[in-house]
Amino acid sequence: MRLNDDVYVLELSTLFGGQPLPVNLSLVVDAVRGATLVDTGAPGQEEAIAGAMAEAGVGIEDLRRIILTHQHLDHVGSLHALARTSGALVLAHEVEAPFIDGSQPPEFARPEVLEATPPEFRSAVESFRPTPVDHRLTDGERLDMGGGVRVVATPGHTPGNLCLYLERSRTLIAGDSLLAHRGRVYGPSSKFSADLPAARESVQKLAELDVRAIVCYHGGVVDDDANGQLQRLAAAGAWSPE
Ligand SMILES: [Zn+2]
Repeated sequence: MRLNDDVYVLELSTLFGGQPLPVNLSLVVDAVRGATLVDTGAPGQEEAIAGAMAEAGVGIEDLRRIILTHQHLDHVGSLHALARTSGALVLAHEVEAPFIDGSQPPEFARPEVLEATPPEFRSAVESFRPTPVDHRLTDGERLDMGGGVRVVATPGHTPGNLCLYLERSRTLIAGDSLLAHRGRVYGPSSKFSADLPAARESVQKLAELDVRAIVCYHGGVVDDDANGQLQRLAAAGAWSPE
């Protein structure tokens, strides 16, 4: 789905631990600087992602960058395959990079987490392959693509969680820092966020942006009074629907 001149939203679904998992990847296009994929789905989704990119007119070989919003398995699952096939540069926040490149075990692979992981998720966890991170992003960094993209560090959901703010289209690619449900925006999942007070502070930070549309990885696009919704969320401390 073409959101605006700079962003396509790739709406995909997969079985994750036996359950359907709808996800919304973002594809930032730039005629000069090349295409950038934000997040990479669950393990085994590389062909579905390449297919959705092709519908947006971007071949896998055209992909220049892959940005990960954070280390969770449904975001980094197909990273290794996509990076290898495309040769794209891999970018992640400096705090999150060690969990993606294998220098530290990601949260989902820590022994105490693995122990509590339902058996139906084990094969997905075991199929994760660490991937080198070529560029470590920092808060406030500006990337010259898609009309100007600002990195907004939003710790809380994970320690090195990030969002991307596209200046020209005023689009916020929120990853899991926000959730959407039927066009309404909510705070991040309380069940799956590592540090909820920090995540709340990050929502306040996001509410300072001038936003026309929000892309939530889970729940999709929020474009009905996005600015107002975000500001009310930050002010009221309203939380996820769970
Ligand atoms: Zn997550």
